[in-house]
Amino acid sequence: MKLLRYGQPGAEKPGILDADGKIRDLSAHVDDLAGGVLTAAGLQKIAALDLTTLPLATGTERIGPCVARTGKFICVGLNYADHAAETGAKIPEEPILFMKATSAITGPNDNVIIPRKSKKTDWEVELGVVIGDEARYVSEDDAMKHVAGFCLINDVSEREFQSERGGQWTKGKSADSFGPIGPWLVTRDEVADPQNLKMWLTVDGVSRQNGSTKTMIFGVRFLVHYISQFMSLQPGDIISTGTPPGVGLGMKPPVFLHAGQTIRLGIEGLGEQTQLTVDAA
Ligand code: ZN
Repeated sequence: MKLLRYGQPGAEKPGILDADGKIRDLSAHVDDLAGGVLTAAGLQKIAALDLTTLPLATGTERIGPCVARTGKFICVGLNYADHAAETGAKIPEEPILFMKATSAITGPNDNVIIPRKSKKTDWEVELGVVIGDEARYVSEDDAMKHVAGFCLINDVSEREFQSERGGQWTKGKSADSFGPIGPWLVTRDEVADPQNLKMWLTVDGVSRQNGSTKTMIFGVRFLVHYISQFMSLQPGDIISTGTPPGVGLGMKPPVFLHAGQTIRLGIEGLGEQTQLTVDAA
């Protein structure tokens, strides 16, 4: 299933793509794409619906974030060998984890807001994992049972805030609009192999990232297992699994975003995003 949320910010309704690619309104059946709705039992109820009986959605001019009430937005750093190399970092022995503020979450095509005093705003196309059933100390073998599905993420990053201002990476990852997710939450059954998905990103039509989840160092199964040893994962939590090469920081000389640019990105089977960059008010 391809699940999504549509409507104005804060007033999104849950929807689902039908066989013709039209959005059907799910709001008579689920309150939102959040919490228990994302568990295996919750998704089964949606899967049992006859989509042709659901009303066609109206007010779909804006697609919202594909998941609501996300409690944790956990990111994995330097998780592609070729990206680690371009940033001059060593290949990590264990996954590097950092948090992105959940207030950064926006719709897939909302503007990316360049923060005040930013000099180094950058892009990162990433595979997102959405947790379904709670995961605590799960084995690698059981890990995928806790995954509701996958989504496209742009892990927008401010490199100076991230690495030159002291402390952890969180400061450079958390500005409003630094977490576009969607357009769809694609349920796990529709993604045959999450470790074999093409991914790409362009800025103003120029190709910047062209990769595949094949070159991930730590795959989805391992990451869910690994992270669940340190914290419980709850329905609606998101894991952003790292970016392939081609970020602005890795170019010689580095290239960063300014207002008025158009970012497009996509992952095979998970849809596309288009964002316009604007300056913070
Ligand atoms: Zn990232």
